[in-house]
Amino acid sequence: MKRKTGQDRSITRNWRPATRAVRGGTARSEWGETSEAMFLTSGYSYDCAADAAARFAGEQVGMTYSRLQNPTVEMLEQRIALIEGAEAARCMASGMAAMTAALMCQLAAGDHVVAARTMFGSCRWLTDTLLPRFGVATTIVDGPDSQAWADAIRPETKLFFFETPANPTLDVVDLAAVCGIARKAGITTVVDNAFATAALQRPMEFGADVVAYSATKLMDGQGRVLAGAVCGTEDFINNTLLPFTRNTGPTLSPFNAWVVLKGLETLDLRVQRQSENALKVATFLEKRVPRVLYPALASHPQHMLAMRQMDAGGTIMALHLDGGRASAHGLLDGLSLVDISNNIGDSRSLMTHPSSTTHAGLSAETRTAMGIDEGMLRLNVGLEDPEDVIADLDAALTGIGL
Ligand SMILES: *Cc1c(COP(=O)(O)O)cnc(C)c1O
Repeated sequence: MKRKTGQDRSITRNWRPATRAVRGGTARSEWGETSEAMFLTSGYSYDCAADAAARFAGEQVGMTYSRLQNPTVEMLEQRIALIEGAEAARCMASGMAAMTAALMCQLAAGDHVVAARTMFGSCRWLTDTLLPRFGVATTIVDGPDSQAWADAIRPETKLFFFETPANPTLDVVDLAAVCGIARKAGITTVVDNAFATAALQRPMEFGADVVAYSATKLMDGQGRVLAGAVCGTEDFINNTLLPFTRNTGPTLSPFNAWVVLKGLETLDLRVQRQSENALKVATFLEKRVPRVLYPALASHPQHMLAMRQMDAGGTIMALHLDGGRASAHGLLDGLSLVDISNNIGDSRSLMTHPSSTTHAGLSAETRTAMGIDEGMLRLNVGLEDPEDVIADLDAALTGIGL
């Protein structure tokens, strides 16, 4: 009798996205459990010595050690690849483990990388500090300026690296234009898709080669675990990424993989509802503060482009207050529902002051060039009733005289 594992690729490839998010990658054990099993095991046993030898030689299908493979982690990897529309995916212990592996696995001394100016602080540390230490030169460009990417190409340019929308200013990079420039020059694009996820934006449809994730954010979506993922072709994953990760070990724990599997079941629902809520909150804030940056608002400098490549605006926005850090910290301290927290993608509304938290490690000049000033705040809108979030923000703004 054929067991319904959901792993038959000819079946799963034809599933529509919502079905893939709930069932993709599920592999049932002999117990026929409905929810995915959590395999908390570091190793695997073999029926005989010859089986062990064959498995290590790659001649027998099966697992050998959880730094290399684990059934729960593999279910998540297959589900993420299916949602992304990628041939393959591998999970990592955190978003930064995913970014580091996606870059380091394919770079060598003498290579050149072009990267966007506005990125998550640790991603800029990789491009500005880590890569140069190993002889990889980096050129930083204004992400939304597509021509700047073309102008930065050198004979030794190997890779383009950016996120869109970008953290924290919500800059939008033209995926089709920048990936097209890279493709023509034989350059690999690595896109950090944490702010949108495949629920809102599928960079591979626009020509991206590698899509990397912090699954800590919207994929878990409930603020529980750290996780990361890298998606690409089977050739890239098996022959470029895996030799790096199997030997360096940024492996995701099966427990965290299981939590993210549960998160993916509701990814689409959460992202759609949180995007609706965020648009309501952004529309309110736009009337109360000097500037709001949210891709789904007509006032966003790249609104048209954003809405061409995203299905909705996402959960995150930036707002600017007059009065610098005193106003920004004053607003945070006046909140009673929205938490002061630097996480994003959570089902709770969270607000942070990037220049004194997430981007404090960058120099003041770098922050200014990224458009992060002392009066800027970043808001993640959750699943609460948006009217309660608006009332909380309204009261906090009134409290600082705005
Ligand atoms: C959070 C984040 C990361 C890092 O992910 P971790 O899971 O915290 O390691 C990378 N890129 C972006 C855009 C992020 O928001």
